[in-house]
Amino acid sequence: VTVFAGQKVALFGLGGSGLATASALKAGGAEVVAWDDNADSVARAQDSGIGTQDLREADWSGFKALVLSPGVPLTHPEPHWTVRLAREAGIEIIGDIELFCRERRARAPEAPFVAITGTNGKSTTTALIAHVLAQAGRDVQMGGNIGTAILSLEPPDAGRVHVIEMSSFQIDLTPGLDPTVGVLMNITPDHLDRHGTMEQYAAIKERLISGAGLAVVGIDDGPSRAIAERRTGDLVRVHVPSSEVLCTDALTVREGIVRDPDGTALADVNGIGSLRGAHNWQNAAVAVAVARALGLTGEAIQAGLSSFPGLPHRMEEVGRRGAVLFVNDSKATNADSTEKALTAFRDIHWILGGKAKEGGIFPLVPYFQRVAHAYLIGAASDAFAATLEGVVSYTRCETLEVAVPKAAENAAASGAPEPVVLLSPACASYDQFRNFEIRGDRFRELVQALP
Ligand code: ADP
Repeated sequence: VTVFAGQKVALFGLGGSGLATASALKAGGAEVVAWDDNADSVARAQDSGIGTQDLREADWSGFKALVLSPGVPLTHPEPHWTVRLAREAGIEIIGDIELFCRERRARAPEAPFVAITGTNGKSTTTALIAHVLAQAGRDVQMGGNIGTAILSLEPPDAGRVHVIEMSSFQIDLTPGLDPTVGVLMNITPDHLDRHGTMEQYAAIKERLISGAGLAVVGIDDGPSRAIAERRTGDLVRVHVPSSEVLCTDALTVREGIVRDPDGTALADVNGIGSLRGAHNWQNAAVAVAVARALGLTGEAIQAGLSSFPGLPHRMEEVGRRGAVLFVNDSKATNADSTEKALTAFRDIHWILGGKAKEGGIFPLVPYFQRVAHAYLIGAASDAFAATLEGVVSYTRCETLEVAVPKAAENAAASGAPEPVVLLSPACASYDQFRNFEIRGDRFRELVQALP
């Protein structure tokens, strides 16, 4: 990226995306002064020829901008020290996607750029949109919050579509966000520890669509619906009505059929294993809206949906032993996500727990009748046992290593026609695992190791 050519910028956060950003800035002629609290990360940056200095000791008057990694707090629970120093110096604070946006405006403003956000379903929908476009022969670059850092992708070009997943943190660091199509899936309480109030959280999400040429907004929750109402530019509403159709000017999905506001059937999601469940209907309908906006035919869209392989750790089938199906839903780090899995199966041997989020599993009580037995792991065991008590039988297992064989044994002995051993923790993984991927991979290994 050449937007800071000949200028000096401070960069904090030298994880994968930070390193890619530092290299891209340097390659574009900027002088980068990078730092991280982690000495190993700093050493790795030095090995790649990136200039480093403890930014506490730097002369901030020479910097044009502070480039931050999305994990570094701007506001909550309190501003990071680099944020304070940048504010005192009066310089802008931005992230890698802002650099991409500036590069795109300067070099190829007509290059299609799809940005996707929401509380849930971002990664699935980003991967689905990218898959549908790629199957239709488009040159697709996918990344951002999912997979590859944006500045490690091929640069914007008129014949190339960028499909970029964005977290709230990334939106916060992208003041000039101007996607061709901006997608807001849904807004439910999550990450409030990092964003303060629900109002602040919704306001950040709204910024993704306010600068978009076309906004695609899921209107199944109150905050998103309010944002759609306020939208003045081009808008496609996506609605998965829970009972009757509440909205007549939306793409709606009922019984797995995506329909135009006038009732024309656009796509059929039934029988697509990777798009099981009503939450995936929303994801599919959003993909239909985006693909249509980018000029794909109905046949191409249907073919893309039908061949979608799905993502790991999201209701992923990882094996069968006799009648027992094993499902890895490690990505379900909150009750809202786990609800999707509990509604998709019956006779569930449910492995749950970890580091609980606010509200715990209380919202899941209505689905407890689908659960045959619960297996508790991790720090939330006491709290979750209290919610299950007297309603669902449970075993305290502490670890996945104990829970998986026990659940497999009970499920096999249950006599149910298709019992499911489901890892859907409704918790963050940090108490026992570095991230949800490692937790899900461990589950898969333990399933594969069963006799
Ligand atoms: P994100 O990237 O936003 O975290 P994912 O696509 O990884 O979302 O899905 C995470 C989990 O959220 C899924 O396992 C599923 O339980 C749930 N989920 C997926 N899509 C939706 C949706 N459209 N609405 C609500 N929940 C969803």
